[in-house]
Amino acid sequence: SAITTADLEKLQVLGHGNGGTVYQVRHKHTSALYALKVAHGDSDPTIRRQVFREMEILRRADSPFVVQCHGIFEKPSGDIAFLMEYMDSGTLDTLLKTKGTFSEPSLASIATQVLSGLNYLHSHKIIHRDIKPSNLLVNHKMEVKIADFGVSKIMCRTLDPCNSYVGTCAYMSPERFDPDTYGGNYNGYAGDIWSLGLTLMELYMGHFPLLPPGQRPDWATLMCAICFGEPPSSPEGASDDFRSFLECCLQKESGKRWSTSQLLNHPFLSSNNLKSSNT
Ligand code: ADP
Ligand code: MG
Repeated sequence: SAITTADLEKLQVLGHGNGGTVYQVRHKHTSALYALKVAHGDSDPTIRRQVFREMEILRRADSPFVVQCHGIFEKPSGDIAFLMEYMDSGTLDTLLKTKGTFSEPSLASIATQVLSGLNYLHSHKIIHRDIKPSNLLVNHKMEVKIADFGVSKIMCRTLDPCNSYVGTCAYMSPERFDPDTYGGNYNGYAGDIWSLGLTLMELYMGHFPLLPPGQRPDWATLMCAICFGEPPSSPEGASDDFRSFLECCLQKESGKRWSTSQLLNHPFLSSNNLKSSNT
């Protein structure tokens, strides 16, 4: 039978953010634990749009690599709450802070799972746009799942391109009409790959790779580092396979970045996953 909010008891706050507050909750009858993300209805229009976008994506997504949504509650007050599976080891961000940096074999496992999630999302025309350690949830089985679709984008295309574009469509390039076929990564999917590369590098090095350790990231410094700097150089001590994998993610030109399915076949993942299945 469907779960209602009356069946849930709040235990503690798991996280705060733009999107609202996330609570750990217990189902009163079954004692099962869940995470409940609550967004207030009286928030400003931008946040409400984000909440509705997240709702639409979580309602549809069905992948073991995307956090599972068990229900959505809308209150008359306008508050919206999402009931999600509870990920009992927190996020990759908290794990980095409490347990320290990750080994290459564990990064290969993390990369495989995040790429499988992104592969699912991209094939359903969803760009996450906020891949980072605090949006990747982990459980005690070291399963990694993508969460937080607040700023995601659902790509949609109208059937008649002439109606949806300003200007004369006769002179428009093929990828303006059909970016999937002609545009390569033109559409922004490759942005998620860049973010994954930075995330893996941070989990290996222990600090955000585009800034010296300890420096507080302000917007202008970051923008300069990303746009005018070289892509971050591969960390010292990393294996050739790992360095090559990071390079494939961190190409500045989006068209040169590898896609999810190409990366899933990269030697860094295949050799590490082979090793772990042999032990
Ligand atoms: P925000 O838009 O506020 O960043 P998130 O969906 O990223 O919202 O959630 C904020 C924080 O709450 C996360 O960084 C994580 O610490 C915690 N959290 C979110 N969902 C879960 C979950 N399903 N299980 C455990 N912790 C979660
Ligand atoms: Mg978040």
